Amino acid sequence: MDLIYRSTRNDHETATASQAILKGLANNSGLFVPTEIPKLDVSIKELTKMNYQQTAYVVMKQFLTDFTEEELKYCIEHAYDDKFDTKEIVPIVKAGDAYHIQLFHGSTIAFKDMALSILPYLLVTAAKKNNVKNEIVILTATSGDTGKAALAGFANVPGTKIIVFYPKDGVSPIQEKQMVTQKGDNTYVIGIKGNFDDAQTGVKKMFSDSELAKEMDAAGYQFSSANSINIGRLVPQIVYYVYSYAKLVSDQVIAEGEPMNVVVPTGNFGNILAAYYAKQMGLPIKTLVCASNENKVLFDFFQTGTYDKNREFILTSSPSMDILISSNLERLIHKIAGDSAEKCAELMQALATDGKYTITDEMKANLSDFVGEYTTEEGTAQAIKNLYEETGYVMDTHTAVAANGYQNYVKETGDKTPTVIASTASPFKFTRSVMNAIDPAYDSKTDFELVDELSKISKTTVPDAIEEIRTAPVLHDTVCEKDQMLAEVKKILGI
Ligand SMILES: *Cc1c(COP(=O)(O)O)cnc(C)c1O
Repeated sequence: MDLIYRSTRNDHETATASQAILKGLANNSGLFVPTEIPKLDVSIKELTKMNYQQTAYVVMKQFLTDFTEEELKYCIEHAYDDKFDTKEIVPIVKAGDAYHIQLFHGSTIAFKDMALSILPYLLVTAAKKNNVKNEIVILTATSGDTGKAALAGFANVPGTKIIVFYPKDGVSPIQEKQMVTQKGDNTYVIGIKGNFDDAQTGVKKMFSDSELAKEMDAAGYQFSSANSINIGRLVPQIVYYVYSYAKLVSDQVIAEGEPMNVVVPTGNFGNILAAYYAKQMGLPIKTLVCASNENKVLFDFFQTGTYDKNREFILTSSPSMDILISSNLERLIHKIAGDSAEKCAELMQALATDGKYTITDEMKANLSDFVGEYTTEEGTAQAIKNLYEETGYVMDTHTAVAANGYQNYVKETGDKTPTVIASTASPFKFTRSVMNAIDPAYDSKTDFELVDELSKISKTTVPDAIEEIRTAPVLHDTVCEKDQMLAEVKKILGI
């Protein structure tokens, strides 16, 4: 029997895994959720003998039940290969009192690579399975990080093209350099004269343009999205929690069956939701610590039961967590409402109209697996400096938000359960903030001087992803007005 997915906003809208991956979003902006969370069907003992790819297979096959063994193994082997700079794929390193699971060894040295390296393969397989003959065109607007991770994931994947729009003057110089040097005959990168919202609006308009859809279909193309609410991004993220637990058991940090805690630096709530799914699968996870930066909507939500996005948006040194609407939280809301699409739709409507909603006491009682913590900018910098001075280990700003949140959690609860911290980016990706935290005197140096300095003090080599952009030639130089995005897409597709 296939596992069925249904919309968080409508019980009657269902899909198989491959259909949900193809569609991305359900109708009326609902998200696809599995009708039940499958249980792990291998023992911890067996898991301790598996490498990352083998673990990925036993976890993902439970969720993507309409993929054959051959298909799924093909996807996994092409995703988690030498694009990663270590055979382990996800190394686990003890730093201070916690175990950092390093999710940043892929092509763009941040955790989005964990899902975006496999999504293209899942998508192409899903298309074949559903008799889609068209070539898949991924259209994305990016404020920096997702665009590059998606480009790297889709580059040279047969049966796909990827077109990324970014605000020409709205991304960091390193982010822009990363994108415009992207290789691959099927990749297109376009700067627009406008901000991120303009790029996003233009992309959404094309997605809902039925005239364009017809023209594309006639030419053998259709759009799809690499958005973070696609279940094809969520499911691969469950894997590294299972893998880490088994690793801690085989390293004799935890006895088989004993619990671990998980701390996740959170933005859109995708990564921590994957940990929650791992717990529902039967993995012995005790507490899920949701760590926020100064944009602490989620912290307040866990405290009070009210989600309220009506507040100032704060730019922090952990920009990938600067979010006021955590899209994936909707999946948890649906779950704690007893799988009620009606209740979930009602709350999401309130969020759309009033910018806030309050859950019932009954729903709040179902949140006991979670604890919210938050960290100020000062706390983030202090955490980086302290850990470096005590151990020599250098972490990035996002991971530091989690490490500081973890310290607060231990102070408040005295809970000494072995703990893993999801380490979501390499410090080399946020070099300036990291180095300034260690010593403000570094601020006078150039970006690449800081990279070399970081390499020296952390005794780690500069990742290829950074090394390459020092010298890589610019391959994409198109810039367009914000009302010319459609024209650019048509030019690329020759329609
Ligand atoms: C995207 C991102 C996060 C937040 O993850 P969510 O799944 O959106 O909660 C944290 N850290 C880094 C470095 C990221 O890129």
